[in-house]
Amino acid sequence: MDIPRIFNISESAHRIHNPFTPEKLATLGASLRLAPGTRILDLGSGSGEMLCTWARDYKITGTGVDMSSLFTQQAKLRAEELGVYGQVEFIHGDAAGYVSEEKAGVTACLGATWIGGGVVGTVNLLKQSLSSGGIILIGEPYWLRLPPSEEVAKGCLAGSIADFLTLPELLASFSRLGCDIVEMVLADQDSWDRYEAAKWLTMRRWLEENPKDEMTKGVRAQLDTEPVRYATYTREYLGWGVFALMLR
Ligand code: SAH
Repeated sequence: MDIPRIFNISESAHRIHNPFTPEKLATLGASLRLAPGTRILDLGSGSGEMLCTWARDYKITGTGVDMSSLFTQQAKLRAEELGVYGQVEFIHGDAAGYVSEEKAGVTACLGATWIGGGVVGTVNLLKQSLSSGGIILIGEPYWLRLPPSEEVAKGCLAGSIADFLTLPELLASFSRLGCDIVEMVLADQDSWDRYEAAKWLTMRRWLEENPKDEMTKGVRAQLDTEPVRYATYTREYLGWGVFALMLR
């Protein structure tokens, strides 16, 4: 069981697999005013940077579940590196339907809401592991500017304009789900660049090291087209943020 190999290649050097910098991740952690010992469940935990750095900085404990064996391995190494191996655990597996036995003070899904079939389903899934008075974190794209055509939406790698909402619409949708929005930290163009542009050097190096791999053609095609596609579409039209929600 694993994710499509292209992500394990293009994001192999990423610690954060979303448009946040380490500073923004730390800002988010600080904004939540976490009590030491708070338990966090993170679905689609990637390389574990949120749990590992927050364990170090805010003394949280937690569990991450991720379907990439590479990212899960990297998360375990990062926990060792930061000296928080006893506080956080990383499980390689499908997080769809994952409900923890022990309730958590924070339940999170950052940049992987397809795990619950979209934002609504993911909020409902995260609710089931949440202790009363806890915080749900959702990391999700939104339209910075509404695309003028479906072609532009596709250029942003969305299926259609309807796949995402504008920021006010997204916030209103959380409210309609019965959630108070209690905090948010948003990506900006510079932090988007750290996510997207970092893939290009990784792909270039991978191509040099793997000239005979069956993925070579596909990776080469991505490296040829991604910078211009990203600058034309995603960078101009797509926002991303993490929203902290508490059930009303
Ligand atoms: N939250 C992390 C990773 C976001 S990228 C971060 O912000 O750094 C999306 C992640 O979802 C990837 O790590 C991918 O491996 C994981 N993923 C995709 N489908 C999944 C599934 N069904 N169950 C668990 N993880 C999944």
